[in-house]
Amino acid sequence: FDDRDGWIWMDGAFVPWRDAKLHVLSHGLHYASGVFEGERAYSGNIFRLADHTARLIESGRILGFEIPYSAEVISAACNEALVKNGLTDAYIRPIAWRGTEQLAVSAQLTKIHLAIAVWAWPNLFGADRMKGVRLGHAKWRRPAPDTAPTASKAAGLYMIGTLSKHIAEEEGFTDALMLDYKGDVAEATGANIFFVFNGEIHTPTPTCFLDGITRRTVMALARKRQMTVVERVIGADEIANASEVFLAGTAAEVTPVRCIGEMQFTPGKITETLIADYDALVRMSPAEVAKLAA
Ligand code: PMP
Repeated sequence: FDDRDGWIWMDGAFVPWRDAKLHVLSHGLHYASGVFEGERAYSGNIFRLADHTARLIESGRILGFEIPYSAEVISAACNEALVKNGLTDAYIRPIAWRGTEQLAVSAQLTKIHLAIAVWAWPNLFGADRMKGVRLGHAKWRRPAPDTAPTASKAAGLYMIGTLSKHIAEEEGFTDALMLDYKGDVAEATGANIFFVFNGEIHTPTPTCFLDGITRRTVMALARKRQMTVVERVIGADEIANASEVFLAGTAAEVTPVRCIGEMQFTPGKITETLIADYDALVRMSPAEVAKLAA
């Protein structure tokens, strides 16, 4: 992924894609002191950019560091990176990490770096999206909020995601359903999850995983259509009663789920409506998007 043309914004300036390197003794690599974002641009507009930038800054604060750029500068750099790479529909990946000044658990003296890369990435699940994805059961659980900084989009938290996703792929699934530390339903490895029970939309309360920007957007879209949306603890034994299941995330967008382990689901009217509403909303101007309070 490093040997290609393009530009990456790194610590305030654009560098050629191939030259966007950091030292092997970076604290971020050894101790996972990094936080990142995943954003999408549609027709030249980065969807809910201000929300993503705010979450990036907050993720850093949760890990005890301050990104040395204002929200305005970070958002402008995301837009500049999109334009500089000649893309209008793309995935945007800002990442902040601790540098090389101290290589120990204590890292108070490290400099904070920020890089922003942009590339074309149509959908997390590619052609599988509309067919619906197949989820396996993850054996790794989302940790408790007093075990790990679960409200941060912290690089270190993705260790259990990668492990879970690899096992799922080896078992022939697309992704994995992760339970939380209590054994209740949490999310997929890179997206939030929704269920339809008796015509109502239910989604787990985000107490130990990201309250995704797509999640909040989908809830607002559903409420705009007078659908009932319930956030609550969802037990693993309830899943079988769902009539529809779908995922929501920036990279995943709104994607139907076809099965979870042995349980089969058929994407229905609610999932189809929300996919259409989401796909239409992301292509609207930022002013139109802002009208939907999410
Ligand atoms: N959970 C995890 C683990 C994720 O990686 C993501 C993607 N950032 C989400 C949920 C969904 O968040 P968002 O809708 O803000 O992209």
